[in-house]
Amino acid sequence: MDSNFIYLDYNATTPVDERVLDEMLPFFSTYYANPAGLHLLSLTMQDTIEEATEEIASAFRIRSKNIIYTSGATEGINLAIKGFQFSVKKHIVSIVTEHKAVLEACVFMERLGFEVSYLEVDEKGMLDLNALTGIIRQDTVLVCAMLANNETGVILPIKEISEIAHQHNVFVLCDATQAVGKMRIDLCDLAVDFLVFSAHKFYGPKGVGGLYISDRAKQDIFPLMHGGGQQQGWRGGTLNTAGIIGMAAALRIALDELQWDQQRVTHLRDALETELLDITGAYRNGHSPQRLYNTTNICFPGALSEQLIIRLKTISVSSGSACSAVTSRPSHVLKAMGLSDLHALSSIRFSLGRFTTEAEIAQTLEQVKQQVRKLRNLA
Ligand SMILES: *Cc1c(COP(=O)(O)O)cnc(C)c1O
Repeated sequence: MDSNFIYLDYNATTPVDERVLDEMLPFFSTYYANPAGLHLLSLTMQDTIEEATEEIASAFRIRSKNIIYTSGATEGINLAIKGFQFSVKKHIVSIVTEHKAVLEACVFMERLGFEVSYLEVDEKGMLDLNALTGIIRQDTVLVCAMLANNETGVILPIKEISEIAHQHNVFVLCDATQAVGKMRIDLCDLAVDFLVFSAHKFYGPKGVGGLYISDRAKQDIFPLMHGGGQQQGWRGGTLNTAGIIGMAAALRIALDELQWDQQRVTHLRDALETELLDITGAYRNGHSPQRLYNTTNICFPGALSEQLIIRLKTISVSSGSACSAVTSRPSHVLKAMGLSDLHALSSIRFSLGRFTTEAEIAQTLEQVKQQVRKLRNLA
């Protein structure tokens, strides 16, 4: 990255770590054989992929046969939700603060005749577990709940959600895209039926992700991508070897360095947040006691984020989710937490990461304070 740029948008995507890139490179031009063949080169590729899969599986404490490689979180989410299109139970529960990939797949299911209930959250971004229990019906097939919110960093109690759903014989899809690499995830403990992740959110390459499917859920859903029978028929198409190797390496590095990263980034995030909250009227969005350590989302009333982002020039921050940033509609997550349109449109997400420095935080503080003041003076 150009060293004049300060990148604080790690929740949108992360750079590929050099060490990850090094591990990937041989798989483009040296070890390029199709892993689905019978010849020796193919068999070597199968072994390599199997090793990477074992590594990913053991990180989540699952078995490698329960992992399906996808093009990213969006595809995994679509497979998990649309996989139920032939289900006799036709009710899905989702949460209003889920990622658009979940919400839009749910809207599609409504067109197929499903009914979807969208659980509300409180001003902290937290859902009410009693409301979840109350909304589950005889014909509920799936509950969708993200582990960590991409806009606010709020962490949901997935284990409790899972227990409630399973008491009622309902499957659970957990979008863990934002959490993988930032916290340890033990699926023996969380016990969800589907878990989705994407390599580019933890310093791996774009265009590759994974979907965990429990044995139980496998019996009830159908694949989206039909083809050459790859991945036990769950997802046809030639495996993205380099991407898979890169994702395994990225996950290994993130978990090896998690403790150190957490300490370092929490410190920087807290320093940034504390001083930004000193700006008159500024407040934080998402007050769950459990929050991602790299994320802070702050509302600066009187300073529209769209204008603030333009004025911050070489500082990359985001207003709401990456998708809604283009259209500049108020974030559905912040709206769900009770913010007015105006306050939702005056909120900025700062997401820090592996390469954020103290000097960058100092510079960001100076710039944000100055530009908020200027914008307010203009008004
Ligand atoms: C980024 C993100 C996605 C989408 O991931 P892709 O790799 O772009 O498909 C889904 N959910 C959450 C929470 C995310 O942060």
